[in-house]
Amino acid sequence: MRETPLARTRRVRKINRELGRAYPYAVAELDFENAFELLVATVLSAQTTDVRVNSITPELFRRFPDAQAMALADERELQDLIRSTGFYKAKASSLLGLSQALVAEHEGEVPARLDALVKLPGVGRKTAFVVLGNAFGRPGLTVDTHFGRLARRLEMTTEEDPVKVEKDVAALFEPRDWTMLSHRLIFHGRRVCHSRKPACGACPIAKWCPSFGIGETDPAEAHQLLKYELAPGREDLAEKMRAGYTRRQLRAEGYSLGA
Ligand code: SF4
Repeated sequence: MRETPLARTRRVRKINRELGRAYPYAVAELDFENAFELLVATVLSAQTTDVRVNSITPELFRRFPDAQAMALADERELQDLIRSTGFYKAKASSLLGLSQALVAEHEGEVPARLDALVKLPGVGRKTAFVVLGNAFGRPGLTVDTHFGRLARRLEMTTEEDPVKVEKDVAALFEPRDWTMLSHRLIFHGRRVCHSRKPACGACPIAKWCPSFGIGETDPAEAHQLLKYELAPGREDLAEKMRAGYTRRQLRAEGYSLGA
């Protein structure tokens, strides 16, 4: 029997609540102190992991703490600082271009508007929503590869195109829930509902997932597939995250926050 629109809305909202219980500590996994740092880190995160970006941004922001400083950067030096994030030539050129545009058009400040953000070099809707949601508290859906895959598996959409996915998912939730839903789906995609080996048998939302069974369903086997703080043997890290330790505190205690 086909699911009615009302039943779907109820089901996916239950999923959001359950993910909130599973990941009460879900936040943007990029480290940042202000909107400029988040914008730069998000541009750098294309085609690489947040963990890798976090490993190079302290030195990058020590050298270039704001748009004014980065706008005057030597391109070679910038490339060297961000080399390990991949596509470093294109990314350095975007960072220079966007810093110069911030200085020329926005007095060096990051604008809190979608239309202005997407005009900056290297900034698409996804990056813009990350910045709006996390640096300015404006609701936004961040449709990255994890979000898109999960939205389809959870039958929030059948679309592949990120803008269409965003539209379908936006219609199912209140705007105030958009930013946290984004964090939670991305967290879940990284830890449990992987692209190739989803850990269905260890999934807290299996009960409401129409795709249950596309991955490992045996609980013990599925548990072995979990990543990050849910990976076998990292229970104390998960406990500290639930207790509210910040990523910075955990790193200072010697925990590795990678997959
Ligand atoms: S049940 Fe499986 S497919 Fe569904 S969300 Fe969980 S891991 Fe993903």
